[in-house]
Amino acid sequence: KQGLSKTTKEFTDKIDTLISGYGKIDEAFYDELEEILITADLGFDITMELIESLREKVKEVKTDDPHQVKVLLKELIINILSTGNRELQVEPPPAVVLVVGVNGVGKTTTIGKLAHYFKQQHKEVMLAAGDTFRAGAIDQLEVWGQRNQVPVIRHQEGSDPAAVIFDAIHSAKARNCEILICDTAGRLHNKKNLMNELGKIFRVVDREYPEARKEVLLVLDATTGQNALQQAKVFGEVAQLTGIVLTKLDGTAKGGIVLAITKSMGTPVKMIGVGEQLEDLQPFDPSSFAEALLG
Ligand code: GDP
Repeated sequence: KQGLSKTTKEFTDKIDTLISGYGKIDEAFYDELEEILITADLGFDITMELIESLREKVKEVKTDDPHQVKVLLKELIINILSTGNRELQVEPPPAVVLVVGVNGVGKTTTIGKLAHYFKQQHKEVMLAAGDTFRAGAIDQLEVWGQRNQVPVIRHQEGSDPAAVIFDAIHSAKARNCEILICDTAGRLHNKKNLMNELGKIFRVVDREYPEARKEVLLVLDATTGQNALQQAKVFGEVAQLTGIVLTKLDGTAKGGIVLAITKSMGTPVKMIGVGEQLEDLQPFDPSSFAEALLG
């Protein structure tokens, strides 16, 4: 079930305890449910909205049986999570996948996993080491390139990221590469800097590779909960995001953040990271997620 054992267990246990503890759905029941949802990092607004929608549903189906709540909640959650197109836009080739996000969220690992994911689909993949700022980022990407046996275009540490992307695009064209995955630097300390850096990269891609499909993926670390939502908002302001990759869902009980992000960003969560290995990246599936969450 999407490797969400921790999210599943804590949340499901609490919901189950709640349900078996009440003979009927009353105000105390809603209060307790509210607290559970907030603890799962759904955030205040979404929790309120969900509870409101749940109250309506409960009225609609004329029930006061707590056991019905699970099914109704599941429906509501799937509904929220089903916004937008979750397919990675890489067909027909060529395509550029720009991967953005702050240090430590799992950006490099995600690029390695993405390369593996596309290679499994027999696609020609190339990587561009566009994070020239973080010490070790280039070498780390090189390792993922070797693991996947895909070429990595790199410059020296500290060089202009846009120049790396420029070279990578021309290399991708020359080698008929189908998908070029670009790492970028995510220095959030200064929004204006971030905007300038990413803006320059985006302009290079538009100018040098107009024929390519573009996917701009923001990588967020699910274990950081509401912090991830804050990052999403900042990146959403400086870049035209097309999708979100939520990492480390295997190690958190804060799975509810998926809902908070989808709802407030309107950008679909397209992939999820559920471990550190190459194959630990999966397309996000709302039904399985809701199923995992609520059992
Ligand atoms: P970056 O600084 O954003 O490029 O982050 P890295 O790719 O270097 O990842 C930071 C740490 O998070 C590493 O130890 C990764 O192995 C780990 N990591 C990345 N994705 C996942 C995931 O989905 N699950 C788990 N458990 N760890 C992950």
